[in-house]
Amino acid sequence: MSAPASQVIAYDVYRVRIPLVTPYHLSKVYGTLTHSDVLILRIETSTGLVGWGEADPGGIRFTGDTPESTMQEVHRGVFQPILGQELNNWKGPQSPLPTGGSLAAACDVAMHDALGHYHQKPVWELLGTRHHQKLELLWPTSSGTASDDLAVIQPKLSEGFRTFMLKMGDKPILEELGRLKQVFAALPKDAHLMTDANQGWTREEAKEFFQNVQDLPLVLVEQPLVADDLEGLNDLRQYGVPISVDESLQNPENAREIIAKGAADIFSIKISKNGGLLRGLEIGKAVEADNKRVMMNSMIELGITQSASLHLGTVLPNLVPFGHAYMSTLRMSDDVTDFSDWIQSGTVRLPEAPGSNINMVRAPICQLATRVFIPPTELIMAS
Ligand SMILES: [Mg+2]
Repeated sequence: MSAPASQVIAYDVYRVRIPLVTPYHLSKVYGTLTHSDVLILRIETSTGLVGWGEADPGGIRFTGDTPESTMQEVHRGVFQPILGQELNNWKGPQSPLPTGGSLAAACDVAMHDALGHYHQKPVWELLGTRHHQKLELLWPTSSGTASDDLAVIQPKLSEGFRTFMLKMGDKPILEELGRLKQVFAALPKDAHLMTDANQGWTREEAKEFFQNVQDLPLVLVEQPLVADDLEGLNDLRQYGVPISVDESLQNPENAREIIAKGAADIFSIKISKNGGLLRGLEIGKAVEADNKRVMMNSMIELGITQSASLHLGTVLPNLVPFGHAYMSTLRMSDDVTDFSDWIQSGTVRLPEAPGSNINMVRAPICQLATRVFIPPTELIMAS
């Protein structure tokens, strides 16, 4: 007997804006972030299942969208085509739903959450084979001085963190090199250091940086150049320091082009940037086929996206052997989920439960923006 149909009959969209514990200063391209500003999508199905998704717009210079522009899309009915979708037929967001970016991610994550409940399986089991029981976390620092970095890093070392990401891209290269050497000198031998310039350097600045870090055990340099300068990134690989792509990698097509042009060693997957779990998985498989590695990264996001990202990371065999960005909720003054409870001593472990495993412990802080549903009479006619 075939499984009973379960189709989406209603959705709610919420806007949630949560202050960061500490403002986050990035490169000169992005300035300083003070809040996580996200949209939450809740779907309901005809068999009473619920799924949660989250859209984390990264801003015009990063992903091309903002909290305001995504909310306008919602009011224009961008999620409307999710009504009537059958859980079991879900193959990722297809047109007329958005097919990339944070709105697509919200749909895909919500559908997988509900699908996991439908099959009584954790989401990772819908995606592939488990390769990791737990994953290490990284901790980022703002663009600043070595003493600013160490003031953040020292307490995190005591908590068990061993991977740190220094944000760069808004100061002279000589200053950044001095900062990096000072931080390295203060770290224990088992710690890992990476930098992220967030597109903040010219080719000349990046070359100056790379020429001077060849003797340092940097685990990666992320996005030293503007997103579309794949030729420049390929040229920088001559220095032998692993290069990670983040802003350059918005979708699976980008991944294939980056691979074809030899523009990266490491691929920074973010569920919300990349359009959800299935697009992220597609990128992961393309990267694996080219014998390259993936770092699971994050936007300034809440526990719904973090959980989905952990389910995906769990099934990717080719992850970098150091920290991943599963610390986002620890940087918030609040969250809608209990994701932070899964983190201990600088590592994160998935609990065993169906769906995305998250508990929406703080759902009441979500502000309902819109509710759309199929009237019961139409549902009867459609079935
Ligand atoms: Mg980055």
